[in-house]
Amino acid sequence: MPTPTTTPTTMTTALNGVSICEERFLDDLAHFASIGGRPDGGVDRVAGSAADVAGRAWFAQRIADAGLVRHVDAIGNVFGTAPGSEGPYLLIGSHTDTVPAGGRLDGAYGTIAALEILRALHEAGHPAARSLRIVGFFDEEGARPESTGGLTGSTAFCSGEGIRDVSAFLELHIEQGPRMEAAGTELAVVEGIVGVQRFSVTFFGETNHAGTTPMAGRADAGRAAMKLASRVQPMVLGIDRDMVMNIGFIEFVPGAPNVVPGEARLVVEWRSGSPYALTEATRELDALARWTAADESCTVSVERISDKRITEFDPALCDTVERACRITGGRQERLLSYAGHDASVLAQHVPTAMLFVPSRGGVSHSPKEDTSDAQLVRGCQALLQSVIGYGAGAGDADAS
Ligand SMILES: [Zn+2]
Repeated sequence: MPTPTTTPTTMTTALNGVSICEERFLDDLAHFASIGGRPDGGVDRVAGSAADVAGRAWFAQRIADAGLVRHVDAIGNVFGTAPGSEGPYLLIGSHTDTVPAGGRLDGAYGTIAALEILRALHEAGHPAARSLRIVGFFDEEGARPESTGGLTGSTAFCSGEGIRDVSAFLELHIEQGPRMEAAGTELAVVEGIVGVQRFSVTFFGETNHAGTTPMAGRADAGRAAMKLASRVQPMVLGIDRDMVMNIGFIEFVPGAPNVVPGEARLVVEWRSGSPYALTEATRELDALARWTAADESCTVSVERISDKRITEFDPALCDTVERACRITGGRQERLLSYAGHDASVLAQHVPTAMLFVPSRGGVSHSPKEDTSDAQLVRGCQALLQSVIGYGAGAGDADAS
């Protein structure tokens, strides 16, 4: 893990003559959270729900209220630009939807921060406002029952005409994990998003009477599945100690207390930022499953059911964000995201990077999701600095 570095805090205002309005930013964030707001502090704004429609309408209205130009595309993504602006644009933003019983910050934070940044630049008459576009993407979470996995709005945008006018994309987001809090960092440059693979493993044995069949004579598919389940974690950690895995689904057939399972299926998911680890784990899972099946007089089939590639963000844009973090101040680091984001879609088309602030207790997709106001403001300032740095030609600015 990279060593966090500390730089002295520098006032945004003093450097660029443009600053976000902290109070307005936090007020807007609170208002957005009230749309679909729950008594426990969480938010229900699942894409396509009445609250989601109301939330996106409010966001578009706030863009107009600031004297900016709003635009809503066919799928429901909401955009804002300064009047008289022209492309190619640096696009900044995140998503407007939440999971059911989600938190107030996931998606909303990066969306409202983008609004505040364009508003502040526009009010200050800063040239960066003329080539900046903000976005609140529709349905990132894929939490609707009919959803096929989320990233709906960003995927639609990238397959349309709109992406042609975009020169780069930056997304500010909460970390949604405990790594930054543990490292004591306030800002993180995200270098990429881990790859995610899922495997369906099915063991085939022989259904039989659970009382009359001697233990030694069974072909118990359930026992094979449980043995494999306990062996996958040591296997992946032996390959790469930063890898994470999960077995979130297991099924016995026929599934009765007095019947030896003749068939058992489990789904193994893992995530890693290392292509080697993903390939090696795939190879070892196959061998481990076969060995485990043989152990229990069963046979097995291993099928890869999904494979989300590793996303590598643009190194030059990551450097621009890192310089911006240094100007903003606070302890910072570089890390990988273990959660998926709209940025992974944009990264397939334009230079892309992300910026994280810590999540209190590492909690997300929960009403308990939280980050301090000071951290939220710092992240917003760092994104503002990134926008200014990008507009100024980050390479030139660094050389001077
Ligand atoms: Zn999100």
